[in-house]
Amino acid sequence: MISSNQASSHPSCEFLSKCPVWGKFQTNSKLFWIKQYCEGSKQVSCARKKLVLENAEVPANLLPNGDFLD
Ligand code: SF4
Repeated sequence: MISSNQASSHPSCEFLSKCPVWGKFQTNSKLFWIKQYCEGSKQVSCARKKLVLENAEVPANLLPNGDFLD
């Protein structure tokens, strides 16, 4: 049987330490996003990461799901 350690089985996004969108949050709601995307399996679909990997300009307030933070 494979032991279950799913919470930490996914490597964090390599851009996490310098992703400027998280500095714009006033509340801990960013932790929800970070768990889902930056530290989870959804990082492959992150709108920010796609732009970074295309060497495109990434709006500072772009959220991982493609919405914009007000
Ligand atoms: S928002 Fe996207 S690009 Fe930024 S750290 Fe999270 S997964 Fe990576």
